Amino acid sequence: MSSTAQTHKFEAEVAQVLHLVTHSLYSHKEIFLRELVSNASDACDKLRFEALGKPELLSGSGELRIDIRVDKDARTLTIRDNGIGMTRDEVIANIGTIASSGTRKYLEALSVEKKADANLIGQFGVGFYSAFVVADKVTLTTRKAGEDIATGVRWESTGTGEYTLETLDVAERGTSVTLHLKADEDEFLHAWQLRSLVARYSDHIGFPIRMPVEKDGKSTDEWEVVNQASALWTRPKSELGDEEYQNFYKHISHDFNDALAWTHNRVEGNQNFTSLLYIPAKSPFDFMGGGRDERKGLKLYVKRVFIMDAAEQLLPAYLRFVRGVVDSDDLPLNVSREILQQNRNLEKLKAACTKRVLDLLDKLAKDEPEKFATFWKEFGQVFKEGIAEDFANKERIAKLLRFASTHTGGAEQTVSLDDVIGRMKAGQDDIYYLTADGYAAARSSPQLEALKTHGIEVLLLTDRIDEWLSNYLTEYAGKKLRNVAKGDLDLSKFGGANEEQRKQAEKAAEGVVKKLKDLLGERVREVRVSARLTDSPAVLVLDEHDMSPAMQRLLKQAGHDAPESKPVLEINPTNVLVKRLESEGDNARAGDLALLLLEQARILEGQQLEDPAAYVRRVNDLLVNAA
Ligand code: ADP
Ligand code: MG
Repeated sequence: MSSTAQTHKFEAEVAQVLHLVTHSLYSHKEIFLRELVSNASDACDKLRFEALGKPELLSGSGELRIDIRVDKDARTLTIRDNGIGMTRDEVIANIGTIASSGTRKYLEALSVEKKADANLIGQFGVGFYSAFVVADKVTLTTRKAGEDIATGVRWESTGTGEYTLETLDVAERGTSVTLHLKADEDEFLHAWQLRSLVARYSDHIGFPIRMPVEKDGKSTDEWEVVNQASALWTRPKSELGDEEYQNFYKHISHDFNDALAWTHNRVEGNQNFTSLLYIPAKSPFDFMGGGRDERKGLKLYVKRVFIMDAAEQLLPAYLRFVRGVVDSDDLPLNVSREILQQNRNLEKLKAACTKRVLDLLDKLAKDEPEKFATFWKEFGQVFKEGIAEDFANKERIAKLLRFASTHTGGAEQTVSLDDVIGRMKAGQDDIYYLTADGYAAARSSPQLEALKTHGIEVLLLTDRIDEWLSNYLTEYAGKKLRNVAKGDLDLSKFGGANEEQRKQAEKAAEGVVKKLKDLLGERVREVRVSARLTDSPAVLVLDEHDMSPAMQRLLKQAGHDAPESKPVLEINPTNVLVKRLESEGDNARAGDLALLLLEQARILEGQQLEDPAAYVRRVNDLLVNAA
């Protein structure tokens, strides 16, 4: 039985993707085969999983497999699987529309680069359309496992605005995709070429990929398996080369770049599982934005059967960049997400996977610093979340953190806490850091002046997350982490002013301190002589337990109430502006100068002035008066 073909229009976005695919993908055209084989393999995985509860689904067409066949006369190439198949509605939903939020990103990425690399396509969940890179017509025939023969569907399109759908009898379950090759794509009609592509891109697929045996250059009816057909992670490490690992990585991650590093382990004993975990070399397009792929690409298998994408269950959120496979022998096969959450083995599995990733990062930090630097550049921000999230591994995570520092003189984050400890001055007990909105602001902050004179290294924390991080990271290797803008900074141990000298300086500055206090009134909590400054006139400091202004800003931006704490203004009595204020007889002008000192100190902290116009007026008045 067969209905007449109905014509449907593609969703506007699909049409756009197709247009780009057919007009701008020139390099790596051959990846269409990888994408279609990968879909076929997913379909077999899905059926094997469904069949756990309904074994009858597997009856009929033998073992799960993928067949590739060419017809030289018709100039077609067909990829057929006996996996889960699709109903008519599923064909419309999966092939005619785009569920993925990544599509727009994909379109953007493509339109930047006119002759884009076809490799990009799989990353955005639109791999099926890569068929149109080499074909001017694609016919997909499918029937869902367990459904009636008469529910078969044929979908066909030339990759322009429309596709047709018809219902027909399909004897075997599963999906077959036939590509009617474009005139200049003859190379994909050669069996040897296809075999070498399978070997290159799809060798690791866990199902047999078969092609017809050739005799005298002609296909026969006999089939032979052309891939390894065993799950890659089950094979011994010694048998696997880098290229095989990298190809497998691309398959599971949909990343077209090579992975940065991986760790492959088999654990036997209390727990029995295999893990193959990768660190990507680049963060995906929608990674930080919380895109749908953020937690995709870490697959849970139970005894070689694919169960689900389970990144959330298998790794903590701060390791969400990791891709890979975990294959457990201990979990029940009929495990669901809900059951999984309560399973005690899972907690152990998660801890073990976390340990593997941290071990791998340790190794990179030690033996392959360039790779570690790449990791840090791409994922350091996310990794920092671990300090708050993973209490058990806090010290290990802290050891792997990297920061900018006054020691290196660049914005790159390359300095570890151990580096700082190694360079500590005699008598130094604390690790000093400064938080700021950006590297330039941090680098030239007056808070650093005195520390600089004494050659003490200060970490410059300038990422958005750092302010928050510093609340959780208060100690490392027995050393306290100290915010240089908070509390009393005693530098006497390093040759700074001692108690006696400070008392003297305070005495000498009593007049100007009092004058400032009177002039500023309620605006500040206190005015005092600073041990931090050598050049600048003034700086704002906080008490040990005050919330920093940056943190207050973050909280307010997030819609929370933030406790308003009044700052302490520290001054440098040797500075000319402060001296000028001291000797200023005109009360109004002294008031302007005092406000100016406070406002400038606030600007240096990255704060917004409530009345910038008044500030500018004051500066201009003083300039005119000075002239
Ligand atoms: P992705 O594989 O990333 O989801 P694709 O564009 O490759 O994106 O495929 C889109 C969807 O079409 C798949 O998610 C799947 O639901 C469906 N599909 C494609 N090929 C097959 C197939 N051989 N068998 C069953 N479903 C398929
Ligand atoms: Mg796909």
